[in-house]
Amino acid sequence: MKIIMAAAECAPFAKAGGLADVIGALPKELSRLGHEVNVIVPKYSLISEEYASEFVRKESLEFDFKGLPETFGVFEYEHAGVKFLFVENDKYFQRDQIYGQADDSERYAFFNRAVLEIVLHQKKRADLLHVHDWHTAMVPFLLKEDERYTSIRSMKTVLTIHNLQFQGKFSKDVFLEDFEMAARYYDDGIVEWRGSFNSLKTGISYVDKVTTVSPTYRDEILTDFYGEKLNSFLQERQQDLVGILNGIDTEVYNPATDLSIEHEFDAMSMEGKLVNKRAIQRRAGLPERGDVPLLTMISRLSGQKGIDVLEEVLPILLAEEDLQFVLLGSGEDQYEQFFRKLAADFPDKVYIHVGFDEAFAHLLYAGADIFLMPSHFEPCGLSQLISMRYGTVPVANKTGGLKDTVVEYDEQLKAGNGFLSDFSQSQPFGLALARALAFYQQPEHWEAVKTNGMKGDYSWSRSAGEYAKLYERII
Ligand code: ADP
Repeated sequence: MKIIMAAAECAPFAKAGGLADVIGALPKELSRLGHEVNVIVPKYSLISEEYASEFVRKESLEFDFKGLPETFGVFEYEHAGVKFLFVENDKYFQRDQIYGQADDSERYAFFNRAVLEIVLHQKKRADLLHVHDWHTAMVPFLLKEDERYTSIRSMKTVLTIHNLQFQGKFSKDVFLEDFEMAARYYDDGIVEWRGSFNSLKTGISYVDKVTTVSPTYRDEILTDFYGEKLNSFLQERQQDLVGILNGIDTEVYNPATDLSIEHEFDAMSMEGKLVNKRAIQRRAGLPERGDVPLLTMISRLSGQKGIDVLEEVLPILLAEEDLQFVLLGSGEDQYEQFFRKLAADFPDKVYIHVGFDEAFAHLLYAGADIFLMPSHFEPCGLSQLISMRYGTVPVANKTGGLKDTVVEYDEQLKAGNGFLSDFSQSQPFGLALARALAFYQQPEHWEAVKTNGMKGDYSWSRSAGEYAKLYERII
């Protein structure tokens, strides 16, 4: 099959979170399975020169956007059997951040059109277009409804929801201005949902199949609690809604070969993990000790990630217990403030790095003992998978993909790879963390839980096959 993927992020070029990891890894695995995959992403100016200097300008395309002719450059880069196509337009992508700009609706409306223009101009017609999240969710709508794309209208489409919370909701005027389509699409409720123009909802209604990134999240989003006010609409499409668990790129995240960490290691030789732990402590200015449990969290700091839970648990735990905590993250101010205060209150125990730092993230995965993930919801979650790959034990809330991947440790059977709390059953996160800390003191059990995690298969090989089967069913 020839498959086109379009997304707003792609590792290692431009990354804000898990979406980038998926777009960087799934196409590679599909290519390994024998499929031809093109990945279309914006050419953000924040892409490092290391990569951008390798991109080759292929063509320049022109189309009418918001009533005026606009041009964009198409740059090509081939890696691991995948062709990446970058859309260059200074007005929209010359920014120092991926998201959070006042004109995001317009920027991604432009990108949606650029994707279709590329597809339209390709000599070899693709079998299928796979779009991701709200940023590219208008592609299927334009494909079917805009006269410019009649010749490619029969292409099949798939939309993956990586996070239902982000729907690309804007006003009717934004829809009319950015897409130049008839007002009836809004007035008849085709692109409208609960009083706004809703990009994700529009995508969901136009694609052949909707997928989400774990089986549990697939079921959760049909409920009021997790449905982000779209559940009644999703229920109408539940026959076509499929949960496929994400994997991780096991070449990028490999403790035995990772160049970003201080010392390589694997499940058979764990001494290297301790070297990484000391490297973290040195960098953080914390006492360099192998015996103290080192907890970490690497995360967007948003309500989803359960920082409120840590606000309750960590100050008490840090006051009472001998442990260390290192945070890497950025996001909402209130949470950054909380962590800054925590670091000020416990200078010998807490270090925080506010920002985005890929290399430090790898070192933390490699050297920490415990990874905290008290998410209120988690579509899949990649951090727990990366942690386990590096022998760092996750303590997580039992929701979404966390429920599908983290298995509570059983001391009788010495089975399981982490510790779970269940907020819906009011099982506090603090208790799950206390269990983890108790087992940390019992080397025989700690070795077991750590090794079980490291031996798990988190690769894309199975899930990429599931995507391929899904594509085959619809083309
Ligand atoms: P989400 O996509 O909701 O942010 P995931 O767990 O699916 O959460 O994926 C997060 C990805 O982003 C992981 O690869 C994680 O290591 C990375 N990440 C998150 N915050 C940072 C940060 N501040 N610095 C470096 N990497 C980060």
